[in-house]
Amino acid sequence: MGKTSNLISSTQSVIHEALDMLGFDEGMYDLIKEPERLLKVRIPVHMDDGSVKVFTGFRAQHSDAAGPTKGGIRFHPDVTEEEVIALSMWMTLKAGIVGLPYGGGKGGVICNPKELSDKELEGISRGYVRAISQIVGPAKDIPAPDVYTNAQVMAWMMDEYSVKHSDNAFEFITGKPIVLGGSQGRNTATAMGAVICVEQALLKRGIKIGDARVVVQGFGNAGSFISKILYDKGAKIVGVSRSTRALYDPNGIDIDYIIEHKDKVDVAKELDLEVVTNEELLELECDILIPAAIANQITVENAGRIRADIICEAANGPTTQEATAILTENGKLIVPDVLASAGGVTVSYFEWVQNKQGYYWNDEEIHELLVRKMKESFDEVYRVHDTRRVDMRLAAYVVGIKRTAEAIRYRHWA
Ligand code: GLU
Repeated sequence: MGKTSNLISSTQSVIHEALDMLGFDEGMYDLIKEPERLLKVRIPVHMDDGSVKVFTGFRAQHSDAAGPTKGGIRFHPDVTEEEVIALSMWMTLKAGIVGLPYGGGKGGVICNPKELSDKELEGISRGYVRAISQIVGPAKDIPAPDVYTNAQVMAWMMDEYSVKHSDNAFEFITGKPIVLGGSQGRNTATAMGAVICVEQALLKRGIKIGDARVVVQGFGNAGSFISKILYDKGAKIVGVSRSTRALYDPNGIDIDYIIEHKDKVDVAKELDLEVVTNEELLELECDILIPAAIANQITVENAGRIRADIICEAANGPTTQEATAILTENGKLIVPDVLASAGGVTVSYFEWVQNKQGYYWNDEEIHELLVRKMKESFDEVYRVHDTRRVDMRLAAYVVGIKRTAEAIRYRHWA
């Protein structure tokens, strides 16, 4: 809770600064500093052993001024109300940066999917949708996958909502399986978005991708796809992490082999890789560091020892505000989380549009649309950073909060 409360207050303080820079007054900040709506729900689930267990969930809707709220649902034992609040605010920023007609939303259920059967998970998914059904919908709030939720969970949720509304409500939720109105490219969208940002950052630094040495922290959905895409593009992946340790090779790691033998314990031995701790991984000699795991990884404690020139935040909140100041002072180029991880919601938007129009784009069309959106967004954030002489995080917040603040002003809510 301590950590997540920090997430809220540091997000609020950067939003405050961004609104000041844009010339909005205290009334605007007062409205934007917290979600418009926050629902706490209790979900009874029939467990496999015959008992009934009650799970707690949340849905936060930060602002629907610029359009319906949008954002994922996470299933995790550490979910808290505070975390869901901070994440909903970040979704407003992500949507604003990429220029999507949405505000931010986020949901979570306190549970451990690793200890639940498929039937129990389905019970939680359907129960959660029933519990939040009054405040969600294709024109109100559109959920999506997040930590430990996937296309199957989205399918159960879509089905539950459809049954309730006697409809095939594909546009209720994104991140669905392709046969249920899912989009091409959604699975790899977050990773691809981060990779496009890395490429833009490399251009700014005059480094060719074939010469780039990369360290990726985290080997989940985002981290593994990022490593694979960059590896296929010719970058040298010198460090990757596994759950308890990390692997290092200054000459580059065979990512195909690592992915293929993910669960093999002796992969380090087989490839003759050095084993380092996850803390050491962050401080390795490289050009690009991609934190793609959890929050608060780069802090005042280790920021001064980061050797990468570019830090691309594929995780949510990996760098503290104090660490951002140190890295910026040291001349590092930070691609902040609200920009680097916006690829997922961008393809979710394409999915929603396809569901509404009933016509589906192919893989190349989606890829092209994503590349254009991400490049434009990176360039706009970089332009604000350059012209206003502010760090990349504040620049991203300035771009990200503008759309919602202007929508609020036009609606005369503040
Ligand atoms: N959960 C993802 C995120 O945090 C995706 C949200 C969405 O697709 O709406 O960005």
